[in-house]
Amino acid sequence: MLAAIEAGGTKFVCAVGDHQFNIIDRTSFPTTYPEETMAKIIGFFDAYDEIEAMGIGSFGPIGINQHASNYGYITSTPKVKWRNYNFLGEMKKHYQFPIGWTTDVNAACLGEYHLGSGKDKHSCIYLTVGTGVGGGAIFNGRFIEGFGHAEMGHIILRNHSADPFQGVCPYHGNCLEGLASGPAIEKRVGVKAEELDKNHQVWEMIGHYLAQALLNYTLILRPERIILGGGVMNQSKVLTCVKKEFALMLAGYVDTPEVDEYIVLPSLGNNAGITGGLILAHQLL
Ligand code: ADP
Ligand code: ZN
Repeated sequence: MLAAIEAGGTKFVCAVGDHQFNIIDRTSFPTTYPEETMAKIIGFFDAYDEIEAMGIGSFGPIGINQHASNYGYITSTPKVKWRNYNFLGEMKKHYQFPIGWTTDVNAACLGEYHLGSGKDKHSCIYLTVGTGVGGGAIFNGRFIEGFGHAEMGHIILRNHSADPFQGVCPYHGNCLEGLASGPAIEKRVGVKAEELDKNHQVWEMIGHYLAQALLNYTLILRPERIILGGGVMNQSKVLTCVKKEFALMLAGYVDTPEVDEYIVLPSLGNNAGITGGLILAHQLL
């Protein structure tokens, strides 16, 4: 039996699954503070004594360098109670089985790469556009990472010519997350993104920013597929705008797959991250 945790800034999902990555049981609860959350995690997994390995995909930034002192920690998160929290270390105090540790978006990327929208490709990027913006990349089965993990949501972009908004990122102001996350949309227009009319001008701006980001990822990494998930992508106008703007900005400079094949939605839906966690666990066996 395999176990997985999707540790999100809003909620935690815990699941156990079989070796075919079918989910056998799952639970979820709001992200509060570490001690309470940890008790709920352990309460769920302690009911299963056949767990062989676990995969965790966590919100971050997190320490992923096995040789660094902060390996396994949630590090500089705006969620103060979770800052510098040794999440993996706490889990290892309770469980003897191997535990894989990566970012929430890398886990979702892994799920989509093996079983979802990336399954026929050797490389893909997964970007979530939600409360935050973050991305993971897998090339030939391996995460792209080095000194740390990627932070694809915090790249600096040019403002849209009709958008004076200075952004909501506490670190960079108008980085991608500062301009195109759900909270950035809400701050600009004064209503929640999900309540905003399809014809509002802001959707074209969001498409414009995501297209700039995808252009940068394309030029740096040349992936075979880019998968766009997260709550903001529920507004179908965004995907249409991204594809149109992307093609304009690329201006035929290099070849990419045909745009409808290249920029796609996830096919595992809400299960991408937890499925990726099960795959990460399986890789440890
Ligand atoms: P999280 O990022 O917290 O894991 P989500 O990926 O669901 O969660 O993203 C939540 C964000 O997505 C919120 O800012 C919300 O306003 C926005 N959102 C949710 N539904 C929609 C929708 N239908 N259209 C546009 N934005 C949406
Ligand atoms: Zn930023």
